[in-house]
Amino acid sequence: MTVKTIYSFAEGKAEWKELLGGKGANLAEMTRVGLPVPPGFTITTEACRRFFAEGEQLPEQVARELREALDDLQEQTGKWLGNPDAPLLLSVRSGAVHSMPGMMDTILNLGLNDDTVEGLAKQTGNPRFAYDCYRRLIQMFGNVVLGLDHFRFEQIMERHKQVAGLRLDTELSAKHLQAIIEEYQGFILEKSKRPFPQNPLEQLRQAVEAVFLSWNNARARVYRKIHRIPDDLGTAVNVQAMVFGNRGNDSGTGVAFTRNPATGEQKLYGEFLLNAQGEDVVAGIRTPRPIGELAESMPEVYEELMMIAKRLELHYKDMQDIEFTVEQGKLYILQTRNGKRTAQAAVKIAVDLVNENVINREEALMRIEPEMIERLLHRQFAELGERKPWVKGLPASPGAATGRIVFSADDAERWAKAGEAVILVRPETTPDDIHGILAAKGILTSRGGMTSHAAVVARGMGKACICGCEELRIDGKRKQVTAAGQTLHEGDRISIDGGTGMVYLGELPLIEPMLSAECEELLAWADEVRRLQVRTNADTPEDAKKARAFGAEGIGLCRTEHMFMDAGRLPVMQKMIMAETLAERKEALEELLPMQKEDFVGLFRAMEGLPVTIRLLDPPLHEFVPDLEELVVSQAKRESMGDVDPQQRKQQEQWIKKVRALSEANPMLGHRGCRLALTYPEIAEMQVEAIGLAAAECLSQGIPVQVEIMVPLVGHVNELKRLRQIIEGVLARHKAANGSSIAFRVGTMIEVPRAALTADEIAAEADFFSFGTNDLTQMTFGYSRDDAEGKFLHAYVEEKILPENPFMVLDRDGVGKLIRWAAEQGRKTNPQLKLGICGEHGGEQKSIQFCHEVGLDYVSCSPYRVPLARLAAAQAEIARRSQ
Ligand code: ADP
Ligand code: MG
Ligand code: MG
Repeated sequence: MTVKTIYSFAEGKAEWKELLGGKGANLAEMTRVGLPVPPGFTITTEACRRFFAEGEQLPEQVARELREALDDLQEQTGKWLGNPDAPLLLSVRSGAVHSMPGMMDTILNLGLNDDTVEGLAKQTGNPRFAYDCYRRLIQMFGNVVLGLDHFRFEQIMERHKQVAGLRLDTELSAKHLQAIIEEYQGFILEKSKRPFPQNPLEQLRQAVEAVFLSWNNARARVYRKIHRIPDDLGTAVNVQAMVFGNRGNDSGTGVAFTRNPATGEQKLYGEFLLNAQGEDVVAGIRTPRPIGELAESMPEVYEELMMIAKRLELHYKDMQDIEFTVEQGKLYILQTRNGKRTAQAAVKIAVDLVNENVINREEALMRIEPEMIERLLHRQFAELGERKPWVKGLPASPGAATGRIVFSADDAERWAKAGEAVILVRPETTPDDIHGILAAKGILTSRGGMTSHAAVVARGMGKACICGCEELRIDGKRKQVTAAGQTLHEGDRISIDGGTGMVYLGELPLIEPMLSAECEELLAWADEVRRLQVRTNADTPEDAKKARAFGAEGIGLCRTEHMFMDAGRLPVMQKMIMAETLAERKEALEELLPMQKEDFVGLFRAMEGLPVTIRLLDPPLHEFVPDLEELVVSQAKRESMGDVDPQQRKQQEQWIKKVRALSEANPMLGHRGCRLALTYPEIAEMQVEAIGLAAAECLSQGIPVQVEIMVPLVGHVNELKRLRQIIEGVLARHKAANGSSIAFRVGTMIEVPRAALTADEIAAEADFFSFGTNDLTQMTFGYSRDDAEGKFLHAYVEEKILPENPFMVLDRDGVGKLIRWAAEQGRKTNPQLKLGICGEHGGEQKSIQFCHEVGLDYVSCSPYRVPLARLAAAQAEIARRSQ
């Protein structure tokens, strides 16, 4: 038995989407449940595939079934194609499995010709209406099937309007339209060397073939490539009896969302036009009316539409985007599909649907892309509509900001003090610009990538930032910037979206970041489901508090080095580094101790007994001293100006000597992490001492403390063994001195491949492992991140040498293998071993899924990604359950 290639709407159903395409499947489904859908049939994607297989010929079987389907439709409607007394008119609509731009536009009113148009005029008593339909058909057919320029038809019509002194299309009379039709037909004959087909069957055949052919047009092909849609799916074609929204003021056409797609509010949302057909609503020829007004002009129709909307939502269990037409007071539904929506609306709708008992909590959790949650947390623009960006750069730090442009950090600070919101525009930023970045609402640079100074600092501060916007010609002296033929001056307003990299001219309205009540509710459900704990990476009490408000259950990584970068402390830190003798160094460390203690007190207070993981100093010491080149240059300058205080010169020379001594060929693989702690144990001792003092102080005030001391960069078990002794020694002495004992754990980062490989040995000395996947990725691939991302990684991903940037999405096959192995081996030696991840991957959906699969206990990520991680962790568990 051969498989049918054409199904009437009454035969199909939603599940046959592959065969009927999205539009066809939904038309069938709506017909099946008894909604008022004009009758019709769908020519399947299989017919399309065979059309191409037979050399772009309509297969005999398809042609035969098409005649049969048409007979049935004629029978059903009591109208006949080409019969002037009762003409059947059709729409021919493409409909692939995935909705796709580039496919052929819908043809309406097919079946009209010089005879049937007279019939339609007589039958409806409305010649103007009939000629208008015919005019539209010839124009659409000429454009879509015969490939003639749409604009040329518009020109002809425009000329007729001018001659008649008319402004609107609707003012054209039947006579005018007849003249236009005649000219249209002449134009087609002249340009395409064949006449507009008067035979309706011929019109239908050509239209169907044109839909099939449009599957392979350039635009559709490019779209499929970008979205990874296979080229051999083919498209379906829907042939449907026409209904007319342009038959007078008791008719109309419109679109409706069952809920507000911007906010999610549960209220019918949409637009309609009286006395209009098809595309008129979106074409912008006349301004459509808000759907609420339909309640006044056609109350019964509005009632019915509301009921149908409700029904469709219940049926598809999601917000629907509906197309409808009213013909002389009777409502028809022409299309339904799941409606597109903003992140905010997506969350509200999912939660509301649960509370309305339409879907369950797990379904709601699975519907929200975790990335959407993050977008909700940053300031964002209210609604952009069709607005076009001025220029585009790299989306370096998400969030939206709007303000007046300034070109220096000092100006940013001054303007901000005066109460202005400013956007700092620089070729790139340096540490000297920090005060400007702090003062600005957003940063825009023309150079630098995702890890440039501006990007890193902005992300750390949760500020919007766009980097590498190379089109910008910034003239800092004249305080102006030029791009895309437009020059802006200091004080001009722009808006930037650091999540998309788009820069807009002017000031766009913003919405405040906050977890909405619905979002809180959704995340509370996620917390019930997930097994992975979610901690945060935080170095300050402010970050810790922010993260807790977002649901963090501890600190998974506190980078102590950030605490010494602060302007007040850097000199003391430098004194420590410059020390010539142990005694001198200890003296400086003594000075740092109380500061460090206060840091930890702040964190312990903020976390109120939740675990706090403190990592001992990690970076090489040269990061805390001035740049060698700078030192040499500044000294040379002084000398040449004769400005030589011998005391100062000596000190300067000492600096240069020290910085030279500290400089390394490859700092990433150099004297840092536990290597530093083992050669300068007094630094680690000071830090542990500070932890002990801070814990004791908090405990004495009744604040519980759970501290985990983390040793960075271990590669050999002996490194950890030695440092563990040092740590335990300090804390034992501390206990002896204070009498009180604090609960602590000692563990290590697993970020050197050798540590992962020898995890069984290392676990004997560790209470926990935290996978430092940033370094682990660098060392496993042998890439230095900044060099890779700046130079070749982009090309690697583009050329599909790598599936993704491994610094953003954890590389399961390589780095992941090490993690899996280390987790297994570590737990073999030490079944109590706690496992976590603290690299940036801890806040990325696919990586979180992986962490769940290998059985880690927690993920740790930046405060703003905590909510995302809670949701992703829940999704990982739901996915596992449904396997
Ligand atoms: P698109 O995918 O661009 O929305 P559609 O096939 O849905 O294309 O149709 C384009 C326009 O034509 C829509 O406004 C739709 O409502 C209208 N339309 C389609 N079929 C019919 C029909 N049978 N009767 C009246 N209008 C129709
Ligand atoms: Mg449509
Ligand atoms: Mg590291």
